[in-house]
Amino acid sequence: MDLENRLTHTGYTPEDRETENPLRPRAFSEYIGQEKVKENLKIYIGAALSRKESLDHVLLYGPPGLGKTTLAGIVANEMGVNLRVTSGPAIEKPGDLAALLTNLSPGDVLFIDEVHRLSRQVEEILYPAMEDFALDIITGKGQMAASYHLPLPHFTLVGATTRAGQLSAPLRDRFGVVLRLELYNPQELGKIVTRSAKILGADIEADAALEIASRSRGTPRIANRLLKRVRDFAEVMSGGVITLNTAKIALDRMEIDELGLDQSDRRMLSAIIQFYGGGPVGLETLAAAIGEEAVTIEDVNEPYLMQIGFLSRTPRGRCATAAAYLHLGLPVPAALQPAAAPPEQTRLPE
Ligand code: ADP
Repeated sequence: MDLENRLTHTGYTPEDRETENPLRPRAFSEYIGQEKVKENLKIYIGAALSRKESLDHVLLYGPPGLGKTTLAGIVANEMGVNLRVTSGPAIEKPGDLAALLTNLSPGDVLFIDEVHRLSRQVEEILYPAMEDFALDIITGKGQMAASYHLPLPHFTLVGATTRAGQLSAPLRDRFGVVLRLELYNPQELGKIVTRSAKILGADIEADAALEIASRSRGTPRIANRLLKRVRDFAEVMSGGVITLNTAKIALDRMEIDELGLDQSDRRMLSAIIQFYGGGPVGLETLAAAIGEEAVTIEDVNEPYLMQIGFLSRTPRGRCATAAAYLHLGLPVPAALQPAAAPPEQTRLPE
C-alpha cells in the first residue's frame, strides 16, 4: 500500500513537516508520558545549565512517531539554545556536515534524524566533532594534500534512530546519554488526543478521546492524525462534537479495528497464517508476499504487533501467535493451544 496514504503509518506527512506544527509540545510540562526519559533529561539539562556547559550528546531510539523530534526541540528550548534539524540521508557528503557544524552557535542542538543512515565518510567527520569539538579535514591528493584542524563551538548532537542496533559501535559509544522511547498506553494517548483537540478547537467527549487513543497503536503521531480525520466526520455527523459513536463509526470506516490494526497489519498476519502455516517466515519473503517494504514491516507493523502479543520473532523468522488467529477469527492450530496439564503421576507405594 502507498505509505503516504496509509492512515496509521508513522512516517512524516506534509502536515507534520510544517515547522510550526501547533500540536508539537514545546516544554516538558506539555510532553505527556515517557516519564523515565523526561526525568533523566531534566536532570542532565539541570546539571549542564548549572555548570554552564553544553549538554552531552543524546541518542533517542524507538519506533517512528513517538516524539523524538519533539524531545530534541524541548531540549533546545530548556537549554535556551537554537535547534538545527537534519537527517542522516540528507547529509550526503562530509562537506555538508562541515557546513552544518561550522554554522552552529555555542550550545546549539543539532538534531540528526535517522542517524543510522549516515555514510561512513560522514561518520568519520562526526567522530572528532562529537568528541573534541573539532573538524579534521583533508583536501587535495598526493603532494597537494593538506590537512586542516578547525575548532568548533561546543554543541549537543541529538541523534534519533528507530533501531539502536543499526548504529555503528564507534558512533553509539560517542553518545553520553542513550534513551529508549516506549509505545504509549491508551490513557497517555487519551491525554494527548484531548490536548490536541483543545489546540485544534474541536469539542471531544472523554470516551471518544479514549476510543481514538486505543486505536492509535501506541503512537502520538497516529493519534493526532486519526483525531483530525474523526473531526471531519464529526462536522458532518454530530454537529462538530466528537462523540464516542461518531469516533467509532469514523474509525470503522477508515478500516482501523478496535485494536488499532489497519489493513496492512491484517494482511500481514493473514499472509503468515495462510501462506506459511503461521510461520516462521523470513522478513523479505513476507515483505514480497504482501507488497510492503521490509523496513516498513520492521519499523511500523512489528513493534505494535509484538507489543500486543500477536507476533513473535524467532531466529528462523516471524510467527503468528494464538491471539492473532483468534483476532482474525481463525481456528487456533493444536500446536499453539496451551499444553494440556500432564496427568498427575501416581506414586507407587514404597
Ligand atoms: P518522531 O521524531 O519520534 O518520529 P515526533 O517528535 O515528530 O516523532 O512526534 C510526532 C507528533 O506526535 C508530534 O508532532 C507531536 O504533535 C506528537 N507527540 C509526540 N510525542 C508527544 C507527547 N509526548 N505528548 C504530546 N504530543 C506528542
